[in-house]
Amino acid sequence: MSVNRPEGRGRFKPAKRSLGQNFLKDANIARKIVDALGIQPGDNVLEIGPGRGALTRHILDRQPGRFMVLEKDDELAAVLSEQYPSIEIVQGDALAFPWNSLAPEDGWKIVGNLPYNIASPLMWDIVSQSRFACAVFMVQLEVGQRLRAPSGGRDYGALSVWVQSHALVDLLFKVPPQVFHPQPKVTSAVMRFILRPNTFEAKASKALAETLHMCFQQRRKQLSTILKSKGIGGIVDLLAGIGVEPSQRPETLAPEQFLELSNRLQNQFGS
Ligand code: SAM
Repeated sequence: MSVNRPEGRGRFKPAKRSLGQNFLKDANIARKIVDALGIQPGDNVLEIGPGRGALTRHILDRQPGRFMVLEKDDELAAVLSEQYPSIEIVQGDALAFPWNSLAPEDGWKIVGNLPYNIASPLMWDIVSQSRFACAVFMVQLEVGQRLRAPSGGRDYGALSVWVQSHALVDLLFKVPPQVFHPQPKVTSAVMRFILRPNTFEAKASKALAETLHMCFQQRRKQLSTILKSKGIGGIVDLLAGIGVEPSQRPETLAPEQFLELSNRLQNQFGS
Protein backbone atom coordinates (compact mmCIF):
# COMPACT_ATOMS: atom_id res chain seq x y z
CA MET A 1 0.00 0.00 0.00
CA SER A 2 1.37 3.46 -0.81
CA VAL A 3 0.73 6.50 1.38
CA ASN A 4 0.52 9.89 -0.26
CA ARG A 5 3.12 12.12 1.41
CA PRO A 6 3.43 15.49 -0.34
CA GLU A 7 6.87 17.03 -0.71
CA GLY A 8 8.46 13.92 0.81
CA ARG A 9 7.51 14.93 4.35
CA GLY A 10 7.94 11.48 5.82
CA ARG A 11 7.70 12.75 9.41
CA PHE A 12 4.07 13.77 8.99
CA LYS A 13 1.10 11.42 9.19
CA PRO A 14 -1.54 11.67 6.45
CA ALA A 15 -3.92 14.63 6.81
CA LYS A 16 -6.87 14.07 9.16
CA ARG A 17 -10.16 15.03 7.65
CA SER A 18 -11.86 15.10 11.06
CA LEU A 19 -9.56 18.00 12.04
CA GLY A 20 -10.17 19.94 8.82
CA GLN A 21 -6.57 19.43 7.74
CA ASN A 22 -6.03 21.03 4.33
CA PHE A 23 -2.42 22.15 4.35
CA LEU A 24 -1.35 25.22 2.43
CA LYS A 25 1.49 24.37 0.06
CA ASP A 26 2.00 27.76 -1.66
CA ALA A 27 4.67 29.82 0.12
CA ASN A 28 3.70 33.06 -1.65
CA ILE A 29 0.13 32.85 -0.40
CA ALA A 30 1.35 31.94 3.09
CA ARG A 31 3.58 35.03 3.07
CA LYS A 32 0.71 37.21 1.82
CA ILE A 33 -1.52 36.03 4.68
CA VAL A 34 1.18 36.79 7.24
CA ASP A 35 1.86 40.18 5.58
CA ALA A 36 -1.81 41.09 6.11
CA LEU A 37 -1.26 40.88 9.87
CA GLY A 38 1.38 43.65 9.77
CA ILE A 39 3.68 42.04 12.36
CA GLN A 40 6.41 44.31 13.70
CA PRO A 41 9.40 42.86 15.58
CA GLY A 42 8.36 42.24 19.20
CA ASP A 43 4.60 41.96 18.48
CA ASN A 44 2.71 39.18 20.25
CA VAL A 45 1.28 36.66 17.79
CA LEU A 46 -1.10 33.75 18.28
CA GLU A 47 -1.63 31.24 15.48
CA ILE A 48 -4.61 28.85 15.44
CA GLY A 49 -4.00 25.45 13.84
CA PRO A 50 -0.37 25.75 12.69
CA GLY A 51 -0.50 22.26 11.18
CA ARG A 52 2.76 21.60 9.33
CA GLY A 53 3.94 25.18 9.80
CA ALA A 54 3.00 26.80 6.46
CA LEU A 55 2.28 30.17 8.13
CA THR A 56 4.39 29.56 11.23
CA ARG A 57 7.76 29.89 9.51
CA HIS A 58 6.79 33.24 7.93
CA ILE A 59 5.61 34.52 11.31
CA LEU A 60 8.96 33.56 12.86
CA ASP A 61 10.74 35.50 10.09
CA ARG A 62 9.04 38.66 11.44
CA GLN A 63 10.65 38.19 14.89
CA PRO A 64 7.55 38.24 17.07
CA GLY A 65 7.78 38.84 20.85
CA ARG A 66 5.62 36.10 22.34
CA PHE A 67 4.54 33.55 19.75
CA MET A 68 1.87 31.10 20.83
CA VAL A 69 0.22 28.42 18.69
CA LEU A 70 -2.92 26.36 19.40
CA GLU A 71 -2.93 22.94 17.75
CA LYS A 72 -5.44 20.20 18.52
CA ASP A 73 -3.54 17.39 16.77
CA ASP A 74 -1.10 16.00 19.35
CA GLU A 75 1.13 14.42 16.68
CA LEU A 76 1.51 17.70 14.80
CA ALA A 77 2.04 19.58 18.07
CA ALA A 78 4.91 17.18 18.92
CA VAL A 79 6.60 17.67 15.53
CA LEU A 80 6.24 21.46 15.80
CA SER A 81 7.76 21.60 19.28
CA GLU A 82 10.79 19.70 18.00
CA GLN A 83 11.07 21.89 14.92
CA TYR A 84 10.42 25.27 16.59
CA PRO A 85 11.58 25.11 20.25
CA SER A 86 11.13 28.88 20.73
CA ILE A 87 7.36 28.77 20.16
CA GLU A 88 4.82 28.35 23.00
CA ILE A 89 2.80 25.37 21.82
CA VAL A 90 -0.59 24.84 23.39
CA GLN A 91 -1.94 21.43 22.44
CA GLY A 92 -5.72 21.56 22.65
CA ASP A 93 -8.99 22.75 21.22
CA ALA A 94 -9.10 26.40 20.12
CA LEU A 95 -12.83 26.39 20.93
CA ALA A 96 -11.96 25.79 24.59
CA PHE A 97 -9.22 28.45 24.76
CA PRO A 98 -9.94 31.28 27.26
CA TRP A 99 -9.91 34.13 24.70
CA ASN A 100 -10.54 36.69 27.44
CA SER A 101 -7.16 35.79 28.97
CA LEU A 102 -5.29 37.68 26.22
CA ALA A 103 -4.52 41.03 27.86
CA PRO A 104 -5.73 43.90 25.61
CA GLU A 105 -2.58 45.93 26.36
CA ASP A 106 -0.45 43.11 24.90
CA GLY A 107 -1.85 43.91 21.44
CA TRP A 108 -2.18 40.31 20.23
CA LYS A 109 -2.25 39.63 16.51
CA ILE A 110 -4.19 36.45 15.75
CA VAL A 111 -3.91 34.43 12.56
CA GLY A 112 -5.05 31.07 11.24
CA ASN A 113 -5.99 29.03 8.25
CA LEU A 114 -9.04 27.86 10.17
CA PRO A 115 -10.41 24.33 10.07
CA TYR A 116 -13.71 24.68 8.19
CA ASN A 117 -15.73 22.76 10.76
CA ILE A 118 -15.06 25.17 13.63
CA ALA A 119 -14.44 28.50 11.85
CA SER A 120 -17.83 30.11 12.52
CA PRO A 121 -18.17 29.37 16.28
CA LEU A 122 -14.50 30.19 16.77
CA MET A 123 -14.76 33.63 15.14
CA TRP A 124 -17.97 34.26 17.12
CA ASP A 125 -16.03 33.67 20.36
CA ILE A 126 -12.83 35.48 19.39
CA VAL A 127 -14.41 38.77 18.26
CA SER A 128 -16.58 38.94 21.37
CA GLN A 129 -14.26 37.59 24.08
CA SER A 130 -10.85 39.08 23.29
CA ARG A 131 -9.47 42.56 22.60
CA PHE A 132 -6.90 41.76 19.90
CA ALA A 133 -5.00 44.28 17.78
CA CYS A 134 -5.73 42.59 14.45
CA ALA A 135 -6.86 39.16 13.23
CA VAL A 136 -6.47 37.50 9.83
CA PHE A 137 -8.31 34.26 9.13
CA MET A 138 -8.60 32.09 6.05
CA VAL A 139 -12.08 30.60 5.84
CA GLN A 140 -14.35 29.04 3.26
CA LEU A 141 -15.38 31.76 0.76
CA GLU A 142 -19.05 31.15 1.56
CA VAL A 143 -18.39 31.89 5.25
CA GLY A 144 -16.30 34.94 4.28
CA GLN A 145 -19.24 36.29 2.29
CA ARG A 146 -21.54 35.78 5.27
CA LEU A 147 -19.11 37.58 7.56
CA ARG A 148 -19.18 40.79 5.57
CA ALA A 149 -22.69 40.53 4.06
CA PRO A 150 -24.79 43.71 4.14
CA SER A 151 -28.36 43.47 5.44
CA GLY A 152 -31.09 42.44 3.04
CA GLY A 153 -29.44 39.51 1.28
CA ARG A 154 -29.36 35.74 1.61
CA ASP A 155 -25.85 35.70 3.07
CA TYR A 156 -26.82 38.00 5.94
CA GLY A 157 -27.48 36.21 9.21
CA ALA A 158 -26.68 35.99 12.92
CA LEU A 159 -22.93 35.54 12.27
CA SER A 160 -22.83 38.64 10.01
CA VAL A 161 -24.56 40.85 12.60
CA TRP A 162 -22.53 39.50 15.51
CA VAL A 163 -19.15 39.85 13.85
CA GLN A 164 -19.92 43.24 12.25
CA SER A 165 -21.17 44.55 15.62
CA HIS A 166 -17.77 43.77 17.12
CA ALA A 167 -15.35 44.33 14.24
CA LEU A 168 -14.69 45.89 10.86
CA VAL A 169 -14.36 43.03 8.41
CA ASP A 170 -12.55 42.98 5.05
CA LEU A 171 -12.24 40.25 2.45
CA LEU A 172 -8.60 40.65 1.36
CA PHE A 173 -8.26 37.99 -1.33
CA LYS A 174 -9.54 34.62 -2.50
CA VAL A 175 -7.50 31.41 -2.49
CA PRO A 176 -8.18 28.55 -4.95
CA PRO A 177 -8.43 24.89 -3.81
CA GLN A 178 -5.36 23.86 -5.86
CA VAL A 179 -2.89 25.39 -3.38
CA PHE A 180 -3.86 22.98 -0.57
CA HIS A 181 -3.09 19.36 0.14
CA PRO A 182 -5.43 17.61 0.23
CA GLN A 183 -7.52 19.87 -2.00
CA PRO A 184 -10.77 21.10 -0.44
CA LYS A 185 -13.87 21.22 -2.64
CA VAL A 186 -14.33 24.95 -2.14
CA THR A 187 -12.57 28.28 -2.66
CA SER A 188 -11.26 30.03 0.45
CA ALA A 189 -11.07 33.69 1.42
CA VAL A 190 -8.63 35.59 3.60
CA MET A 191 -10.47 37.94 5.95
CA ARG A 192 -9.11 40.72 8.18
CA PHE A 193 -10.80 41.84 11.41
CA ILE A 194 -10.17 45.06 13.32
CA LEU A 195 -12.16 45.43 16.54
CA ARG A 196 -14.51 48.38 16.97
CA PRO A 197 -13.66 50.61 19.95
CA ASN A 198 -16.95 49.91 21.74
CA THR A 199 -17.12 47.06 24.20
CA PHE A 200 -20.20 45.16 25.34
CA GLU A 201 -21.30 44.64 28.93
CA ALA A 202 -21.99 40.94 29.59
CA LYS A 203 -25.74 41.60 29.80
CA ALA A 204 -25.83 43.50 26.48
CA SER A 205 -23.77 40.80 24.79
CA LYS A 206 -26.10 38.08 26.02
CA ALA A 207 -29.15 40.06 24.89
CA LEU A 208 -27.70 40.56 21.39
CA ALA A 209 -26.86 36.85 21.07
CA GLU A 210 -30.34 35.85 22.20
CA THR A 211 -32.05 38.41 19.93
CA LEU A 212 -30.11 37.12 16.93
CA HIS A 213 -30.85 33.53 17.81
CA MET A 214 -34.55 34.28 18.21
CA CYS A 215 -34.81 36.29 14.97
CA PHE A 216 -32.68 34.21 12.58
CA GLN A 217 -34.19 30.91 13.70
CA GLN A 218 -37.34 32.17 12.00
CA ARG A 219 -35.85 34.45 9.36
CA ARG A 220 -38.77 34.06 6.93
CA LYS A 221 -41.28 35.38 9.47
CA GLN A 222 -42.23 38.99 10.16
CA LEU A 223 -40.68 40.56 13.25
CA SER A 224 -44.07 41.15 14.88
CA THR A 225 -44.87 37.43 14.59
CA ILE A 226 -41.47 36.42 16.00
CA LEU A 227 -41.72 38.78 18.97
CA LYS A 228 -45.34 37.84 19.66
CA SER A 229 -44.41 34.14 19.71
CA LYS A 230 -42.00 34.96 22.57
CA GLY A 231 -44.69 36.73 24.58
CA ILE A 232 -43.14 40.19 24.08
CA GLY A 233 -45.62 43.05 24.46
CA GLY A 234 -45.85 46.59 23.02
CA ILE A 235 -44.35 45.41 19.77
CA VAL A 236 -45.52 48.24 17.48
CA ASP A 237 -44.07 50.93 19.75
CA LEU A 238 -40.94 48.89 20.42
CA LEU A 239 -40.19 48.56 16.72
CA ALA A 240 -41.26 52.12 15.86
CA GLY A 241 -38.68 53.29 18.42
CA ILE A 242 -35.90 51.82 16.31
CA GLY A 243 -37.40 52.81 12.95
CA VAL A 244 -38.61 49.33 12.02
CA GLU A 245 -42.01 48.25 10.64
CA PRO A 246 -43.71 45.25 12.31
CA SER A 247 -43.92 43.52 8.91
CA GLN A 248 -40.15 43.61 8.29
CA ARG A 249 -38.19 40.36 8.28
CA PRO A 250 -35.05 39.98 10.41
CA GLU A 251 -32.64 40.05 7.47
CA THR A 252 -33.70 43.64 6.62
CA LEU A 253 -32.40 45.07 9.92
CA ALA A 254 -28.94 46.67 9.99
CA PRO A 255 -26.53 45.57 12.77
CA GLU A 256 -27.17 48.87 14.62
CA GLN A 257 -30.91 48.17 14.60
CA PHE A 258 -30.33 44.71 16.08
CA LEU A 259 -28.23 46.34 18.78
CA GLU A 260 -31.01 48.81 19.53
CA LEU A 261 -33.59 46.05 19.57
CA SER A 262 -31.53 43.85 21.87
CA ASN A 263 -30.89 46.77 24.24
CA ARG A 264 -34.63 47.29 24.52
CA LEU A 265 -35.22 43.57 25.04
CA GLN A 266 -32.43 43.15 27.62
CA ASN A 267 -34.79 42.79 30.55
CA GLN A 268 -36.83 40.12 28.78
CA PHE A 269 -33.81 37.81 28.70
CA GLY A 270 -32.96 38.13 32.40
CA SER A 271 -29.43 38.47 33.67
N1 SAM B 1 -1.93 26.39 9.21
C1 SAM B 1 -1.76 25.17 8.44
C2 SAM B 1 -1.70 25.49 6.97
O1 SAM B 1 -2.09 26.61 6.60
O2 SAM B 1 -1.29 24.64 6.20
C3 SAM B 1 -2.85 24.15 8.74
C4 SAM B 1 -4.25 24.58 8.41
S1 SAM B 1 -5.45 23.30 8.51
C5 SAM B 1 -6.73 24.00 7.49
C6 SAM B 1 -6.19 23.49 10.12
C7 SAM B 1 -5.31 23.16 11.31
O3 SAM B 1 -6.07 23.33 12.51
C8 SAM B 1 -4.81 21.73 11.37
O4 SAM B 1 -3.47 21.73 11.74
C9 SAM B 1 -5.67 21.06 12.45
O5 SAM B 1 -5.05 19.98 13.09
C10 SAM B 1 -5.91 22.22 13.38
N2 SAM B 1 -7.15 22.10 14.16
C11 SAM B 1 -8.29 21.48 13.82
N3 SAM B 1 -9.23 21.64 14.76
C12 SAM B 1 -8.66 22.39 15.73
C13 SAM B 1 -9.12 22.89 16.99
N4 SAM B 1 -10.37 22.66 17.42
N5 SAM B 1 -8.26 23.62 17.74
C14 SAM B 1 -6.98 23.87 17.32
N6 SAM B 1 -6.51 23.42 16.13
C15 SAM B 1 -7.32 22.69 15.36
